[in-house]
Amino acid sequence: MPLRQEATPLVELAAVGKTYPGGVAAVREVSLTIARGELVAIVGPSGSGKSTMLHLVGTLDRPSTGVVRIDGHDIAALSDRRLSALRAGLIGFVFQQFHLAQGQNAVDNVADGLLYTGVPLRERRRRAERTLMRVGLGTRLDHMPHELSGGERQRVAIARAVVGEPALLLADEPTGNLDSASGAGVMALLRELHAAGTTVVVITHDREIAASLPRQVAMRDGKVV
Ligand code: ADP
Repeated sequence: MPLRQEATPLVELAAVGKTYPGGVAAVREVSLTIARGELVAIVGPSGSGKSTMLHLVGTLDRPSTGVVRIDGHDIAALSDRRLSALRAGLIGFVFQQFHLAQGQNAVDNVADGLLYTGVPLRERRRRAERTLMRVGLGTRLDHMPHELSGGERQRVAIARAVVGEPALLLADEPTGNLDSASGAGVMALLRELHAAGTTVVVITHDREIAASLPRQVAMRDGKVV
């Protein structure tokens, strides 16, 4: 689906609730708008609903109540197939645990970010190499994940998330497993991507990181406070 160029916000949550089977109300009555080009920190104590909200924004999960609109599309109105297509074209994900394939080098891990786009393998690898250079790993193309430091692995994961040039990058505690120097490097990279036009949403426990970002959304007990 082509990116809508009009004034539609990229992300719109209207009175969104998510209750898990078993009855945990993880997100309650959340209304939130994120405009194109924002860089937003999501903060709050453990269990406050941050990851659940990021999953809803990322269309990995559907809300129990309320409306989630991504790039103007009400996700409840889309079939699973169209939702997957929207997600693949629009959203990149980065997680605390990197989630790299252990038996593949950096290039092939990043090329996997284009698996469902119909781009042929050669071209996927070419774009992966270019993106690895962009994240400062041009000298690590053939390295396996176990041959990379934590910070480098997270850069590979970020390269995989952005190789398809998504409008929206969602990161769940991307520095949570890193020492502070590597974490600062990863944050600098996210800022660069933001400066180049990507909308970035980052969950973080780190108050200093959160305070350094232009907007903070604070959660408590499933609500935005
Ligand atoms: P945070 O990211 O702020 O730590 P989460 O969104 O992970 O918060 O969790 C919010 C609440 O929802 C917690 O009480 C958590 O135990 C619960 N929860 C999260 N995921 C699930 C799930 N898949 N099934 C049931 N409960 C869940």
